[in-house]
Amino acid sequence: MVAQKTQIAPPKLGEPFLLTPGPLTTSYAVKEAMLRDWGSWDDDFRAMTKSMRSQLLEMLGEGADDFDCVPMQGSGSFAVEAMLASFIPKDGKTLVLANGAYGKRSAQTLAYLNREHIVLDKGDYLPPRGEEVAKILAEDPAITHVVAIHCETSSGILNPIEEISEATYGAGRKLLIDSMSAFGAIELKVADIRYEAMVSSANKCIEGVPGFGFIIARKSELEAAKGNSHSLSLDVHAQWAHMNKTGQWRFTPPTHVVAAFLEALKGHKVEGGVAGRGARYARNRDVMVEGMRELGFETLLKDRWLSPIIVTFFCPADENFVFDQFYALMKEKGFIIYPGKLTVVDSFRVGCIGQMDEHIMRQVVTAAKETLAEMGVASAAPPALALQERAKLAA
Ligand SMILES: *Cc1c(COP(=O)(O)O)cnc(C)c1O
Repeated sequence: MVAQKTQIAPPKLGEPFLLTPGPLTTSYAVKEAMLRDWGSWDDDFRAMTKSMRSQLLEMLGEGADDFDCVPMQGSGSFAVEAMLASFIPKDGKTLVLANGAYGKRSAQTLAYLNREHIVLDKGDYLPPRGEEVAKILAEDPAITHVVAIHCETSSGILNPIEEISEATYGAGRKLLIDSMSAFGAIELKVADIRYEAMVSSANKCIEGVPGFGFIIARKSELEAAKGNSHSLSLDVHAQWAHMNKTGQWRFTPPTHVVAAFLEALKGHKVEGGVAGRGARYARNRDVMVEGMRELGFETLLKDRWLSPIIVTFFCPADENFVFDQFYALMKEKGFIIYPGKLTVVDSFRVGCIGQMDEHIMRQVVTAAKETLAEMGVASAAPPALALQERAKLAA
């Protein structure tokens, strides 16, 4: 393969690019930032935590003063659990909007927490719409909270969060958002979209390494969260109160991850913040999808629903196509792709996030083309069943 010109340095030591939704390919500067140790109680590290929290809040735009940012140790799911347990009172009732694995995980978390909830399950990839939410809320006045997934990473669908927010507040209820794979690349300005709290993590669109999540919540909700959590370590109110009082995390912080994250935030700013990052990812998606379609691949989603985060493709119908072999041959060429999560037809996913640009995405398409040839796959066209499935999705 002929290397194309790129602004983005390839990963060192022959590492493959991670075309996955996090952990993802990070910059060398981000990795390098982890080459020193920090004392968690030391002023230097406290200043790092403070700077990180305020930089994240800046991304909310006008009105951010009403919110605060609370980092939480663990992977993203720990932060989701912390958010759900801390902001939904024990006697609250939640409507979970699910259209994939992460919506289901929120519902499962509420089941573990013994918090009353109902689920609007739209299957693998249909979006929950504002009218549906409004109807359910009108019929069930006991519902206090709605939980929505911003980008459902299992299909890559960008859910209509504005619509969902309007329906929720139109009915006088509160919205909590899992914006794990969207925040930092897709605007979530509090002046445009009303919500009480959202959650994301270090290793998604900010392009840090895994190790913590963060909850951004309205200060009034943070105050009111006292005593809601079932868990000592996941209590957002307690973490917030302690951090504001002492500048420290309650329990051992992932110091190196925070240092790397600050470096990642620098890169995010240089790129032009949320708008700049979102534009690069959208370009990554457009170049990659166009190239893959030229090879005959079809996307699960119609263009209106394609997120700039990750794209699901149907596996080709050609009997020579075997996903595991496709995966291994792509990896040999330097690209790690991701298996699909659809229940009805076979699929795979290609991520657009991380330290990659359109030149890399063109190389991904070239690698896919060569791999199909090596496997003896004549056409990447999906089976008829896949297209029937897709026809269910409105434009
Ligand atoms: C990545 C992700 C999570 C968290 O997953 P972890 O594996 O716990 O980091 C939650 N929700 C969404 C939508 C995600 O993309």
